[in-house]
Amino acid sequence: MISQPVHLQLTALMEETKPRARRQNLIDEMDRLIASDLTCVACSGLCCSFEANTMMVTPLEALELFYFLVSRKLWDSSLVNQITTCISRSRLDQSPPGNGRRDFARRSYTCPFYLEKAQGCIISRGFKPYGCLAFNPHEAGLTAGGGCHSNQQALVFREEANQRSEARWNDRIITQLDLSWKKETIPVAIMAMASHFL
Ligand code: SF4
Ligand code: SF4
Repeated sequence: MISQPVHLQLTALMEETKPRARRQNLIDEMDRLIASDLTCVACSGLCCSFEANTMMVTPLEALELFYFLVSRKLWDSSLVNQITTCISRSRLDQSPPGNGRRDFARRSYTCPFYLEKAQGCIISRGFKPYGCLAFNPHEAGLTAGGGCHSNQQALVFREEANQRSEARWNDRIITQLDLSWKKETIPVAIMAMASHFL
């Protein structure tokens, strides 16, 4: 359970970081696809499951996700159990295969925020990881991915528009939370936020 002072502190931070505004071009692009009937409603959610999901987030994205979960009262023992089970099952707390200089592969996992099929993801678009927002179907009626890809142009546009402020925020969070990473899998990143704020 999050204390009132910490909740107020996080709310004040979100007023500064403006999560939705920084994601707006990705949300607009998603709306454009939905208006053309390019949606995920018939899909099994392949991109959120261990078969295809290797999503990693910055400290700022993790903080915004964590704020979303606590402010919507979704943070409870059941969700924590799902997140920690995901970490241990997919060995996300261990280094990916590599030679010390670079990783040979990213770690895959079924995202703990993914519900089944058409229920989709519990995270609102204004707080979703950038990479999740940019990955969309480009064919109608997909049931298991295949015709989906990431809109790199929209991701680059978003990043360039927010580069300075996000670099400042990420540096600040890394320092205050004494983090050893600049990007992490969603479950590990969220638990780092929880262990600091709860
Ligand atoms: S945050 Fe949502 S969209 Fe992104 S991988 Fe998790 S379930 Fe999928
Ligand atoms: S249609 Fe594509 S983007 Fe949508 S849930 Fe399926 S794999 Fe993911």
